[in-house]
Amino acid sequence: MAQFKYFFDPEKYACILDGERECDICHQRKKCFDGKAYHVRSRILKDIFEERKRRFPDPKKMKTKELIEFYRVRLAGKKEEIVREQREKPKAFCFECVAKGRLFEVGASVVEGDVQALRKQIQRQNPSLSTTENENKVQERTKQLEGSTPAFAPWQDWLWAAHCGDYCQLITLAGQDEFNKLAVDGDGKKLFRNSLHGDLKEHTDVDSVWSRLKPDSRGPRDKWSPLAYIFKCLSCGAILTIWDSH
Ligand SMILES: [Zn+2]
Ligand SMILES: [Zn+2]
Repeated sequence: MAQFKYFFDPEKYACILDGERECDICHQRKKCFDGKAYHVRSRILKDIFEERKRRFPDPKKMKTKELIEFYRVRLAGKKEEIVREQREKPKAFCFECVAKGRLFEVGASVVEGDVQALRKQIQRQNPSLSTTENENKVQERTKQLEGSTPAFAPWQDWLWAAHCGDYCQLITLAGQDEFNKLAVDGDGKKLFRNSLHGDLKEHTDVDSVWSRLKPDSRGPRDKWSPLAYIFKCLSCGAILTIWDSH
């Protein structure tokens, strides 16, 4: 059984296709995640961006006019190629390829890590690291998170929580029941309030959101809004909650 470092229970919460499909990475017929849930970075745009970086390593030194002209020339005539590229989006990724972080090979990802928070945490933990060493750790962990996260369908795009210098594991999508079960004292609402992540702590009307969360457990396929996502720090065990709605 494939193991996913940052996603505890894909069998229950991920978008999985019925039967066996051909994986767009290893081309074997296997049980697969739904490729439609992924964002796929355009190879054409990536190549243009890489060329820009090679030729003009410091974009601040380029005049806006020059920059626009550079992209205009490179993009001229590419419109059809980009449309074709979008049409040929991958359809399926098998469990094994995703678990190995191979989504990176095809530029696909379903989440974005909170890179800034992670960078600060790693710096704090290892004050003697050089900027490059620090950045390498940030990139390595971000690549692992984004390249190995099973397809799931949050309502909004939010940044994946980081804690103690690594990304957290998504342990469950949650209604009230999941919080009640997880709370040591059985008070799920208190756990919901205390575990709210980052800005959500200040910006959440706890009574209102809690009362609208699904009263029982969140089933694997039901759409419910608002929806909570419970994360656990893989190092200290802290519980962090993100919620969103449609
Ligand atoms: Zn595969
Ligand atoms: Zn932690």
